[in-house]
Amino acid sequence: MSVERVCAQSGLLVDGDTRVAADPCEYFHPAVGVQVGCGRLRCTSCKAWVRAGPPGLGLMENTRFDLRALHAAPDWAALPFLEQGYVLFNRRRLYACTCLHWTAESVAPIENDHELESEPNLPWGCAGHPAPELPVRLTQLVIDAQASWPQLVDAILRGSCPRELERREALGPEPGLWLAWLYVYLRGLAVADELSAAVADRLLDADPQVVGRVLYFFIHFSRARGVDKVIAHAEADLHRVALGYPIPETPPAPTLWAVLSTRLGNAPDPRDALDARVESMVERLLFVPRSSLPHDDLGPLGTGDFERQRRERLGWDPDTLEYVLNDFARLRASERADVVGHALGRSASMFAGAERRRFIADHIVEIDQAAPGRWRQVMTLLSDWHGKPAQGHLIVLAGARVIQAHLATPDELRAWISARRSYGWVNDAWVAPLEAMLAAT
Ligand SMILES: [Zn+2]
Ligand SMILES: [Zn+2]
Repeated sequence: MSVERVCAQSGLLVDGDTRVAADPCEYFHPAVGVQVGCGRLRCTSCKAWVRAGPPGLGLMENTRFDLRALHAAPDWAALPFLEQGYVLFNRRRLYACTCLHWTAESVAPIENDHELESEPNLPWGCAGHPAPELPVRLTQLVIDAQASWPQLVDAILRGSCPRELERREALGPEPGLWLAWLYVYLRGLAVADELSAAVADRLLDADPQVVGRVLYFFIHFSRARGVDKVIAHAEADLHRVALGYPIPETPPAPTLWAVLSTRLGNAPDPRDALDARVESMVERLLFVPRSSLPHDDLGPLGTGDFERQRRERLGWDPDTLEYVLNDFARLRASERADVVGHALGRSASMFAGAERRRFIADHIVEIDQAAPGRWRQVMTLLSDWHGKPAQGHLIVLAGARVIQAHLATPDELRAWISARRSYGWVNDAWVAPLEAMLAAT
């Protein structure tokens, strides 16, 4: 299988405070949790490679200059029409091809909505990044075809960093991100498979943070080699899929459920045998009572503790900090109250396809019995834009069951319909029949 080694969003243009990748093999991937400027941007108009200047160096005002001369100059600092900014402008970074230039004062992806003037609208894009040639030395780690991956993964989990990521908010060692970085860096080489398989082998580690890092890895790379072990582990005891394993790297606390969710949500068509196992597991989980599906976070510190430490480190004032942390806690609690129900209401891609939607509509009563109130999330799912108008009848089918089984009072259902009008596929084709049924009760 060929692997695309390109920056996400066609590459980032970064300000002077953010690193531009100097190594052509390094590229931006969101799983790494840190932004890095693409070092291989190319212009589709003039075909030149885009050059990025050092932090702070920018064009003098009202100056006349030749873009070709700028692009060809070996040392931009020596050019008479460029100057180092005052302290205020030190964040800027000048980019140029032979037909255009751009001053980045923040970090922005090349692919964006172009709604604001500050968002780049340029004919530039990531030209792809070659895979590294082995052997490669990354700080203390040496990677060659004979590398012992259990040892390398263990070294990273114990604090060996393959590349300094310059994450200002880091609370300490961040092996979860480093493993993701290394996997992204090696993708396309056979050793990347050995790396992910060795990560999976640490799933049953006694340290909950190691488990959290393994889960973090497979949440982001849910088709990497070794994920079958993670899936088999979930199958062996469905009741532990919602347990959280907080890690200091980033919220939320990774769970087995999140691995299942990303695997199913991003499954290609046709799905493979492992996808089918995940799908069947998720269907069974819809019926597992919430009361027998513990959602506890394991480990000495919770996601909220890490969030507090991170923001304190960034120097937030106490009042703002408390406000933001309370908000953070509320959001986390709403996501963690019932992960299955939350996914029903929020994760349309996980429950896509006519058959799966039909299954959910047919079983709304059992799904609600597992966690009373889930009828709302199911109805919200069924009335989104997916498969409309073809699957619109499922809303009526499920709504009739809600009424017959008294899952909701008529007022509750009416309130849901009225709230639904702000977003989603709201159409008389289903609103009228449901209102008629409500009127008849
Ligand atoms: Zn150009
Ligand atoms: Zn790139």
